[in-house]
Formats: sequence, structure tokens, C-alpha cells
Amino acid sequence: MIETDVIIIGAGPVGLFAVFEAGLLKLKCHLIDSLPIAGGQCSEIYPKKPIYDIPGFPSVLAGELVDNLMKQAAPFKPGFTLGEAATEIDKLEDGSFVVTTIKGTKHHAPIVMIAGGLGVFEPRKPPITNIADFEDKGVEYIIKDPEFYRGKRCVIAGGGDSALDWSIFLAEKKIASEVVLVHRSSSFRGHLDSVQKVIDLADNGIIKLITESEVVGLAGNNKIETVKINHATQGEISIETDHFIPLFGLKPSLGPIASWGLEIEKNAIKVNTLDYSTNIQGIYAIGDVNVYEGKLKLILCGFHEGTIALQSAFARIYPDKKNILKYTTVNGVQGF
Ligand SMILES: Cc1cc2nc3c(=O)[nH]c(=O)nc-3n(C[C@H](O)[C@H](O)[C@H](O)COP(=O)(O)OP(=O)(O)OC[C@H]3O[C@@H](n4cnc5c(N)ncnc54)[C@H](O)[C@@H]3O)c2cc1C
Repeated sequence: MIETDVIIIGAGPVGLFAVFEAGLLKLKCHLIDSLPIAGGQCSEIYPKKPIYDIPGFPSVLAGELVDNLMKQAAPFKPGFTLGEAATEIDKLEDGSFVVTTIKGTKHHAPIVMIAGGLGVFEPRKPPITNIADFEDKGVEYIIKDPEFYRGKRCVIAGGGDSALDWSIFLAEKKIASEVVLVHRSSSFRGHLDSVQKVIDLADNGIIKLITESEVVGLAGNNKIETVKINHATQGEISIETDHFIPLFGLKPSLGPIASWGLEIEKNAIKVNTLDYSTNIQGIYAIGDVNVYEGKLKLILCGFHEGTIALQSAFARIYPDKKNILKYTTVNGVQGF
């Protein structure tokens, strides 16, 4: 049994910053994440994209933000259970909790902070019968590191921002040797600027744009070699490629969190904005996983929610201790 003061379910940016805020209150944290790395959406979906609305950082790559949050949390020596989804929460008679993961790892603490973001998210996959055979053999649903595609031929499918942005990035920065963007309609759902940019790049021969088309088949010997495209008027087109990257978005699902007796609304956990507590005393929900009137799914809002929730958690653990807010400028950061 792993013992700690606060079990944080979800090691995304919000869960990581909560470790720092808990540390200032001398509370120890242990994070659980179903992913094998910390950082949540920032690490999993867009590590190389710049974020422009983190206070004090005019621009920071999502992956760099995660690295910095890890450094900021380090003095408080958080524990990690990574690569294991939290599947059960049991409330004991004394009001404390045991959180068990899918692999049976048990964690015990008086407080549970759920920072589960969008929950367990899965990519939307195109209905190509043998696509699973080529997963990690040239088929990827998320671009984690554009360098992976250096000098490679890439076929990207999709009509939203992700497909447009990555096509532009891989082609404009001359990372991929060839970028083909396939979309089933002749109009796109993404930002107008990005749509215009793709059209300009296509006009200049830097991107090959194939609209009114769908990728319907994949072929190759133990790795992808060809995609078969069905064009509305030209019929079947075959393109040789090293990668097929369908970017059709992610399907969020709360996963196990939905079955823990928490009040759920709009696929998120309802909280009291006084302290981001849930309907179960001792369990808080912060970041993208919660919902309340006026909720904004932004990293900075999650940082605020965690800070407030931890003050309340401290009062719950130590009802007789007075907690006076101390500035870090005055007290510094006293690690464990
Ligand atoms: C492409 C893109 C661009 C974005 N750009 C911006 C931006 O510019 N500015 C901004 O502020 N926000 C941006 N966002 C939103 C931002 O990423 C989220 O608001 C932020 O990641 C929320 O952080 P979080 O820690 O609450 O959740 P997440 O980052 O979603 O992390 C939650 C973690 O919880 C884990 N988890 C869930 N359920 C369980 C379980 N049962 N057991 C174990 N682990 C579990 C997940 O695996 C995940 O790692 C963007 C999002 C996307 C997709």
C-alpha cells in the first residue's frame, strides 16, 4: 500500500502543478496516470506546439511546460504510478480512501484529487478494415514528435485544425520529404488562415492536396507502403508512402471515473466552486475533468482550481491547524 497525503489521479499539467501547491502546505502527493509519461494532453497530443496563454510565458512548447512543471514539483518528491489507470476508489470508515489501479497497485490517503482531464481518450479511427495491422508500422493517430517524420513521405487525412496544422508544419519546415493531405470534402473545418495556407502550399507544389477523397485501403509488407484513395470523380488512386496519419480527433470518455458515485454532468465531474470539492467529501476534481457554471477548459484555470482545492484539503486533514497564506517570495520553497 502506497501511503501519502494526497492521491492525484491524472498527471497532466493540472495534476503536476497541484503537487507544487500541496508541497507549499507540506502535503505529500502521489500521482497515478494511465499513460506511461506525465503531462496529459500536453505530452500526448501536442508536445511540440507552442502555448501562448500561460501567464509569464509569451510562448512555451507544451512539452517544455510539462518539463518545467516536473522541475517545479521536484522539491516535493512526488511519487508516480504511471501506465496504470485508476479503476476503483473505496472510502474507508475513517473517511480516508484507497485507490486501486488496473494492475492492482493500492494507494491510501485522506484526500483524492481527480485531475483526469478528458479521461481516457482514444483516437477516432477511419473504417479501414486492416488499419490495426499497420498501427506502429507506419500508421499513427497522433503526431508526438515531428522529427520522427524527417525525410519521410506522409499521407495525412482529415479536415480539421490538427490535419491542417500538421500538414503545414511538416511541409513548410521541410521535415517530411512529401506531404499529401487527403480530405473527403472540398471545404475544411479548420481556421480560415490555416485553410488558406494549405491551399497556397498546394498551389506552390509544397503540399499535395487531394479533396473529395477518402483513404479506403492500406497495403505493405510488415509496414505501410501504399494507401489506396477513393476519389469522387477520378476513382481509385494509389499513393506510395512511409506513413499514414489519420487526424480525425479524439473521443473523450471519462472511463472508470464515471462509475465512482460522483455527480456527473456533460461527461465531467460536478464541483462546488467554493473549493472544487465533489459530492463525495474528501474527493476534489480539478482541471478539464470538472464542470461548473462558466467553466473554461484552460490550463491556467486548472492551476487556480488546484490551488484553491488544496487549501480546502489542508483544512480537512488538519481541522485544528491554522493555515496562513505565505508568499513564496518571503518563504522560498522548502522541499521535503
Ligand atoms: C491541440 C490542443 C491544444 C491546446 N491548446 C491549449 C492552449 O493553448 N492553452 C490552454 O490553456 N489549453 C490548451 N489546451 C487544453 C489543455 O491541454 C487542457 O486544458 C489541459 O491539458 C488540461 O489539463 P488536465 O491536467 O486537467 O488534464 P489532461 O491534460 O487531460 O491530463 C489528464 C490525465 O489524466 C489521466 N487519466 C484520466 N483518467 C484516468 C484514470 N482513471 N486513471 C489514471 N489516469 C487517468 C489521463 O491519462 C491524462 O494523462 C489544448 C488542448 C489541445 C488538445
